[in-house]
Amino acid sequence: MRPDSLAFLFSSIQSLPGIGKNHHASLQKLVGPLNIDLLFHLPRTFIQWEHVSSIKNTLHDQHISITLTVRSHQKSSPRTPHRVLCIDQDGNHISLVYFQKNSYLEKNLPVGEQKIIQGKIEYYRNQPQITHPQHIFSLHKNNQPPNLIEPLYPLSASLTQFTLRRAIQHILKNLPPCPEWIPQKTLNNQKWPSFNDALQKTHSPSTPQDLEPLSPHRQRLAYDETLAHQISIASTQNDAKIHKKIYTLAPNPSFLKTFSSLIPFSLTSDQNNAILTILNDMSLPSPMQRLLQGDVGSGKTIVAFAAIIAAAQNGFQSVLMAPTETLVHQHAQNLSPLAKHFGFPIYTLTGNHSAKPQKNTLENIQNGNALITIGTHALFQNKSLFKNLNLVVIDEQQRFGVHQRLSLLRKGLNTDMLLLTATPIPRSLMMIHYGNLNASFLKEKPPGRKLINTTVSNIQRLPELEHAIKRHIKKNGLIYWVCPLVDEGQNTELSHVTGRAEQLAQQFGEHNVALIHGKIKGTERQNIIKNFSSAKTPILVASTVIEVGIDVPAADVMIIEHAERFGLSQLHQLRGRVGRGQNDAFCILLYAPPLSHVAQQRLNIIRQSQDGFFIAEKDLELRGAGDVLGTRQSGDLQFHFINTHEHRKILDLVSHDIKQYQISPQNHEHIPHLLSLFQYDKTLNLTKSG
Ligand code: ADP
Ligand code: MG
Repeated sequence: MRPDSLAFLFSSIQSLPGIGKNHHASLQKLVGPLNIDLLFHLPRTFIQWEHVSSIKNTLHDQHISITLTVRSHQKSSPRTPHRVLCIDQDGNHISLVYFQKNSYLEKNLPVGEQKIIQGKIEYYRNQPQITHPQHIFSLHKNNQPPNLIEPLYPLSASLTQFTLRRAIQHILKNLPPCPEWIPQKTLNNQKWPSFNDALQKTHSPSTPQDLEPLSPHRQRLAYDETLAHQISIASTQNDAKIHKKIYTLAPNPSFLKTFSSLIPFSLTSDQNNAILTILNDMSLPSPMQRLLQGDVGSGKTIVAFAAIIAAAQNGFQSVLMAPTETLVHQHAQNLSPLAKHFGFPIYTLTGNHSAKPQKNTLENIQNGNALITIGTHALFQNKSLFKNLNLVVIDEQQRFGVHQRLSLLRKGLNTDMLLLTATPIPRSLMMIHYGNLNASFLKEKPPGRKLINTTVSNIQRLPELEHAIKRHIKKNGLIYWVCPLVDEGQNTELSHVTGRAEQLAQQFGEHNVALIHGKIKGTERQNIIKNFSSAKTPILVASTVIEVGIDVPAADVMIIEHAERFGLSQLHQLRGRVGRGQNDAFCILLYAPPLSHVAQQRLNIIRQSQDGFFIAEKDLELRGAGDVLGTRQSGDLQFHFINTHEHRKILDLVSHDIKQYQISPQNHEHIPHLLSLFQYDKTLNLTKSG
């Protein structure tokens, strides 16, 4: 049960000062609904105010903190801004400039008074000025001296640093007392502050080093987050061992042979091994919890399907869940010949069917007739739909956050679970993401896979590319053209793809260009993909929605605009959309200069390697160099404090401590408090198991 003392942290951000109705929606979208979510929203960079007593020797664009005396106000006219004329302690003149009308100016900056001003100094016509100073402090006794390091938070539209900072500081002032869960010995060795002090320091840094992941307070918080996560995973895995499945598979030694004989290609030995391991897991009394890792195109689907067919032959229901409707239909289409062969129809269930077939499908799922169901992830919310569900397969599970992943595993405590993942996780990070989850790997690519010719090119060379495209579509080639997600908060993504699609349509003809993005759904989307696969519209301009689940073997060119903005795994995944057929395949990564050194290295890695595991390792190494782009894909972003690169030692320390001190919610008084803070209490159902 959540301790009462946490009520404030778990109340809605709506009641924080300055949030109210206006900012509630955008803040909730940015951080989450609760005070604790905002408290865990970390500053990413900072402004360092330099304290100066005189403006002499200050530089253009320098961030300064200075005491000034107000001399006079020059009110705005239609053509001139409001100017507040001031002098510094040496008598040098400087003006504060306001372009926006502000009726409080004369009250806030009364003539004759001294104020501490923080802002960016500019020299305009050789005269020093500060436009819209960020902060104005009084010199009065009760005021704290202004902080010279000002943390800057990631924002979204309509929110300001001020809004966020004020709300966060309010939470910090009201932090409930917090018990200590870190073993005393570790705490002494590391000289870490308490949890509350660590949060204070994180949000109110006094030096730039205080914002570093390796500062003592940030290490402590990373330890806490890791500990909560590891304990939760371990507890789920223990529960899986204790639970007994309702149905177990009858062993059938000839199954794999029969299955192989009915598919149009021969399985790789990795695929064979994975299938045998999975069938074995399914014949054991405790539920399977297995992760199947394999690069894009490594052939995970057929492995999952072998398990599904085996279950169906035993009369058990399976469900295959995919993240998008498109992928659901594609799986259904690809698998239905095989399923027919075995005599099992495939049912699909998505949110977007017309009411009638959906109802029919639901009936069949409930009465147990539907042995094979393919649906969107939403389906899992309703496991009770099934009569005798035996196997749950989750495709593209890397799309889930840490909490969702855990709750999926927990929901499967009496069924077999197979998780498919296409974003390889470096070995060193397996533990933190999955604990001791069993894993199978498909390292070997199906035979005949060609390397994809990958080039990196400046977007300024677009005209040359356009000639090549013209030639290519004459030869019946199929081209994906991907534009990046510029800012998730706004509709810029849409305008970017739309703009590019229009430009290409003008150049190559309307009939040759189609557009697909997240807002195009259902049959419209399916039609677009159909027209593309049949070469009716050979150029498909797309947002990153095509990242998963589009299987058009004839597509042979992938062009990615602003490749420098994507994560490496994501680029690799996108590239994997081509090179699935007979033709030679090409990937062209377009970048907009200037490229940072790290960005250059990253693009080179993609150009030189087509091994997802290698790319993931390299990505991890490079991101330590301070490149924040691409974290969305890595999964790091799902944690608040853990930076998997910087905090490797902490991960080891946590594993060590858990063993050494046998840390568990049952053995340690304050661990439930920790789990509550990181919101694992809901998933773990601590009240029951504890
Ligand atoms: P992913 O692992 O990315 O989900 P898929 O399961 O979609 O990959 O497989 C990609 C393609 O490779 C599919 O068209 C599939 O039929 C084909 N495929 C899978 N295994 C083999 C194999 N052993 N030999 C030849 N083709 C295969
Ligand atoms: Mg797949």
